[in-house]
Amino acid sequence: MINYDRILIRFGEISTKGRNRSKFLEKLRQNVKRVLHQFPEIKIETQRDRMFVKLNGADGEAAAQCLKEVFGIQSFSLAIKTEQEIDQIKDAALSLFEKVFEEGKTFKITSKRADKKFQLDTGEMNHTFGSHILKNVEHSKVDVKNPDINLQIEVREEGVYLSCENIKGAGGLPAGSGGKAMLMLSGGIDSPVAGYLAMKRGIEIEAVHFHSPPFTSERAKQKVIDLTEKLSKICGKVTLHIVPFTEVQQMIQKQVPENYTMTSTRRMMLTITDQLRKRNEGLAIITGESLGQVASQTLESMYAINDVTSTPVLRPLITMDKEEIVEIAQKIDTFDISNRPFEDCCTVFVPASPKTKPKLEKVERFESFVDFTEAISKAVKDTETLTITPGFSYENEDEDLF
Ligand code: ATP
Ligand code: MG
Repeated sequence: MINYDRILIRFGEISTKGRNRSKFLEKLRQNVKRVLHQFPEIKIETQRDRMFVKLNGADGEAAAQCLKEVFGIQSFSLAIKTEQEIDQIKDAALSLFEKVFEEGKTFKITSKRADKKFQLDTGEMNHTFGSHILKNVEHSKVDVKNPDINLQIEVREEGVYLSCENIKGAGGLPAGSGGKAMLMLSGGIDSPVAGYLAMKRGIEIEAVHFHSPPFTSERAKQKVIDLTEKLSKICGKVTLHIVPFTEVQQMIQKQVPENYTMTSTRRMMLTITDQLRKRNEGLAIITGESLGQVASQTLESMYAINDVTSTPVLRPLITMDKEEIVEIAQKIDTFDISNRPFEDCCTVFVPASPKTKPKLEKVERFESFVDFTEAISKAVKDTETLTITPGFSYENEDEDLF
């Protein structure tokens, strides 16, 4: 019985990316390597239009399980490679078939001949290997229109690849292949999901969190660290900036009428995030906003808040309903962390009835009575930066880090 010796990975969208291709492939290779780190015997080989994970004895099914989460993979298959020898191909086809066959299932052979020098054409291949299976497996039956099992045999110059099942990949583009953006990460449900979706399209993220000690606690900060840790599993590491926001927030409380404090708070957050973005060479800002969800997320609010910068603000959740967001949060395992009951700097200072339709001219006028520049610069300067990797534990860190 011949066993799987490799996993064949198909990229789909990457293959259309022209000049950036090698960067995409290198990122994908790194991300694949990382999720398979518990199999040191595995080797990765990249070709123009596909990638091979050579198992070297590692458990193929277990390795395949790890690949399901990797962005940039369209589909993959457990496969066997043989020489261009008919008997070898027959043996491999039979072994592969017997792994997946159950009585009642139909099959067909799909042959492909990239190397035209091979002695059989595709029709002859289908026939030769199909009848070998029919002869050797009792109750096996062909159905070329709608088979349960599609045994693919592909002849290339360097050898012949056989596979049965195409397993669906996570899609998207390799995490980290598409430029950097700052993710405004609260302790809520939405922003980690926004970060996840941005990463799915290849963006490298750095997280920015605003906290206001002593009004927000160390445990609120821990929550954000844990959320960042989850996101770091997708790409290996995520930088987290923790901004001391108390002073700015107290100035807002003092200067701005209560129903405008929320608008002003968001403007200050965006301003500070944009300065951190510049310092870290990011190209955009990502938020977890979803249209109409709360007072700060009406179009009028976004208009008044967004005015502080011309940097692109990406809002991956903008048209999603809460249930759709929660579903993703559960899938990526951030939901339970987000649901921990700890105070956020916005909930601590949130006014009883924030304006749902704030006016830009008004908030600008309220803010003009005092100069925020210095407090903003100080918040940027005193920002703490952590590098979060999978398994990161704040408990193990130097206690006086915060
Ligand atoms: P979330 O579930 O992400 O907290 P939300 O529905 O509670 O979102 P808001 O509180 O209005 O919405 O926040 C909107 C967005 O502003 C958040 O998704 C996040 O991107 C950003 N944000 C809010 N609070 C903070 C914070 N303390 N630090 C960093 N970003 C924040
Ligand atoms: Mg929130």
